[in-house]
Amino acid sequence: MEFVYIIRFGEIWIKGRNRRFFEQALETNIRRTLKRGERAFQLERERGRLYVLETADDPAETTVLLSRIPGIVSVSVGVRCEKSVKSLAENGLALMRTMGVAPATFKVESKRADKTFPIPSPQLSREVAEYLLTHGLDVPVDVHHPEMVFGVEIQQNGAYAFCQTLRGAGGLPTGVSGKVAVLLSGGIDSPVAGYQMQKRGATIEPVYFHGFPFTSDMVKDKVARLAEKLAFYQDSLALHIVNFTPVLTALKAHCPEKFTIIVMRRFMVRIAAEIAKKTGCRALVTGDNLGQVASQTLDNLECVTDASPMMIFRPLLSFDKFEIIERAKKIDTYEVSIEPHEDCCALFVPKFPEIYGKLDEVREAESAMDVAGLVEECSVSVEKVEF
Ligand code: ATP
Ligand code: MG
Repeated sequence: MEFVYIIRFGEIWIKGRNRRFFEQALETNIRRTLKRGERAFQLERERGRLYVLETADDPAETTVLLSRIPGIVSVSVGVRCEKSVKSLAENGLALMRTMGVAPATFKVESKRADKTFPIPSPQLSREVAEYLLTHGLDVPVDVHHPEMVFGVEIQQNGAYAFCQTLRGAGGLPTGVSGKVAVLLSGGIDSPVAGYQMQKRGATIEPVYFHGFPFTSDMVKDKVARLAEKLAFYQDSLALHIVNFTPVLTALKAHCPEKFTIIVMRRFMVRIAAEIAKKTGCRALVTGDNLGQVASQTLDNLECVTDASPMMIFRPLLSFDKFEIIERAKKIDTYEVSIEPHEDCCALFVPKFPEIYGKLDEVREAESAMDVAGLVEECSVSVEKVEF
């Protein structure tokens, strides 16, 4: 059957001057996503809507793919019809049969964008409902809590009937807000932080600090798989794997134990900023979450921020853990994140970490290390993996 996916996007940004730019980005992202799934499809645009036409046995997979693309508010699965009550109702019934949709109650909702079509919306809804009731959909109409909304739209480019609508990811199309470098660990939080930025239109460049042999190469593989999940949301994605061993070795040798985590993070932001500059990123992003662990107090976040020559964004700062987990499950990173591999920091967690780091003490603790030399050394010892 030839399905039409009716794609609606944000009401606010389509009104602005950037509308064309945003629409174009969304269109590109849709094309790329569907091409990756090796689908044959056609894409059409009409004021405030995008339409994807695809011949398939089952529309479920494409619908889910589309609903995950940032910038899309909702997706309806429908069929293109002639501009008549009969065509809308009959094609709609065929669609319901193909999709196995059999509701206990329904209602028809109509939208008439093409004002040359003679039947006004309320009357169109009634006439389509009557046709459906007498031609196979023998269930009660419930205007308040219908199990199925049978949608009818009369646009300039055609008429559409649809019987299923999914909520989309919302946000902005990835690629419209510039680039940021995400400090990506193997944990639950940082992939979600990266996704949150993608959903606001940013392209991400993940940076992972690998401390072999303190951390096994299994973690590297895990982080690569997380990066690959995030690659779904943008055109192409490059993961930068930093050889962090020189810093870890120096920390063990010179840094007072209670400051190791803070100083380690200070090194991470400095090195990430070097990579960010080279790759055109304007800011760093971490999965920090206020108060979640001892290292994430305002004092400690301040100590880390102090070392960064760039803005640091922490999109999860105010999230509850369960919200982060829920989001991680939705973007399909959760199962990978909970695989039991320690990241390098876990091995360095001191028995009594500093919870309220004081900047002067932290700087003092760092002074026995060759900061500039280590940053320089690690910034060039980077493996790049492209997705
Ligand atoms: P996550 O689940 O993202 O690891 P977390 O709650 O475990 O976060 P921490 O381990 O304290 O928090 O790390 C805080 C942030 O520092 C992470 O969210 C991530 O952005 C960054 N980070 C930590 N370890 C690494 C690493 N090895 N490589 C890159 N970034 C890291
Ligand atoms: Mg972690």
